[in-house]
Amino acid sequence: MAALNLPHEGKANDVVLVHLEDARLLRQLAYINGKWVAGNQDIAVTNPADDQVIGYVTALKKSQVDNAINAAEAAFGKWRAFSAEKRAELLMAWHDLLLENREDLARLMVLEQGKTLNEARGEIDYGASFVKWFAEEGRRAYGETMPSHIANAQLATIREPIGVAALITPWNFPNAMITRKAAAALAIGCTVVVKPASETPFSALALAELAERAGIPAGVFNVITGDAAMISATLCASDKVRALSFTGSTRVGKLLLQQSADTVKKCSMELGGNAPFIVLPDMDIQEAAKAAIDAKFQTSGQDCLAANRIFVPREHYEEFVEAFATGMQKLNVGNGMLNGVDIGPLINHQAVEKAQMLVDDALEKGATLVVGNQKKLPGENFFNPVLLTNVTPDMAVYREENFCPVAGVIAYDSLDDVIIAANDTEYGLAAYIYGHDIRHIWKLMRGLDFGMVSVNSVKMTGHPIPFGGMKQSGLGREGSRHGFDEYSEIKYYCLGGLDTASGC
Ligand code: NAP
Repeated sequence: MAALNLPHEGKANDVVLVHLEDARLLRQLAYINGKWVAGNQDIAVTNPADDQVIGYVTALKKSQVDNAINAAEAAFGKWRAFSAEKRAELLMAWHDLLLENREDLARLMVLEQGKTLNEARGEIDYGASFVKWFAEEGRRAYGETMPSHIANAQLATIREPIGVAALITPWNFPNAMITRKAAAALAIGCTVVVKPASETPFSALALAELAERAGIPAGVFNVITGDAAMISATLCASDKVRALSFTGSTRVGKLLLQQSADTVKKCSMELGGNAPFIVLPDMDIQEAAKAAIDAKFQTSGQDCLAANRIFVPREHYEEFVEAFATGMQKLNVGNGMLNGVDIGPLINHQAVEKAQMLVDDALEKGATLVVGNQKKLPGENFFNPVLLTNVTPDMAVYREENFCPVAGVIAYDSLDDVIIAANDTEYGLAAYIYGHDIRHIWKLMRGLDFGMVSVNSVKMTGHPIPFGGMKQSGLGREGSRHGFDEYSEIKYYCLGGLDTASGC
């Protein structure tokens, strides 16, 4: 295994050793037009498990962000002119490299993001699955023909790539949130400029390194790093950028929508969630508690799909709380690189403060602390999982996206009540239902204002499904055949003046 003793590309001597089979996967420069480019300043990237510097990325100047947009625009003509088959071949070469380098990519992700190594391996597979899916779907990006209402005319549509797409992504899924967007955009013929989260740029830069090795031409896939506000404002203001796909908080999503209004971009937004997890009265309570633990604590609770509010029938409340408390106390908190760890660190110290705020606020307003805060923590960015009961709608833990390992359980009395309570949020991303009576499941499924409803399964996401939310959880869908909609235009054409009467 190669030990990479950075300075880069960089200048720093205060970094820890990163062990990768392929040391060149840790890139510390931006990737623009097929070249590795330095800006005017280095930004340290730290490991959330111990706050040690693992490397540096470069802060680009505005002129370099413009260069990236120009490079993507210049590459667009050639890339869209490739056959769908050719683009698919290049995407499959990228996909294969992602899986060949799975272990290194996963280790890099643990170092910068903190999740457990198993979760990181899962994310590499998940991320690669979108590349394969869209490589295949690109060959089937069909148009349609319509029976004509105009004499002597044939009517049809074709799907055309929209142009340069800006992709702005968060830190919680540093690989898959990029591939879910980029694979769709590239397969349909767009070129992209990716701006990853500052906490997790190395996963994005490794994707660029592998895209280059796969033979994806210069300018087609660009990754830029640096000041988020300046980069995003530049991307949004540019008339050359025709699509913006953002995954992140609702707060920043609204800002980017405002900034994109002047250039009337096609915007897709994957924003925050406040998922209800609803247990039905006929459900086995032990099984429901186990599923709720999985749905709550994946990625240390830092997941837009995480169960945020757990609703349990009043008659089963005590049994559920006991089963949940027993199960969650088996979770091990620690460095994600170590075997047997279930919950890694939170992304940074502010996230720990937010988790503590949620607990304090709930306790002040009358919640009960059932589990939490008793074990010694391995570092400053760690947070022991917490279980709160008697949670009420006036508490931040109920209203806000928690994004931490704090669970709140709420008793309910009727299906009508729980539908109203679950929908009592500006978010509408995902909801879970656990139970058996199909009439109850159907009533809930139709009554819940959420873009994704999962019945008796914690796992709901994947390449074939349209991922996305209602209300302030977003606009548009990612994955599935609908994923192309965000990066393409439907062009209608009317071919008139034909001699249709003679059958020609
Ligand atoms: P965030 O703070 O909104 O940041 C997301 C991206 O926006 C990052 O690249 C960030 O760059 C950039 N950004 C931050 N402030 C900005 C500003 N003022 N102007 C322009 N760009 C700015 O979100 P996050 O904390 O990284 O991610 C967590 C959020 O993502 C949660 O709300 C979660 O629900 C959501 N999420 C949603 C989905 C989904 O599919 N619906 C999936 C995953 C995550 P810097 O990092 O450089 O600041």
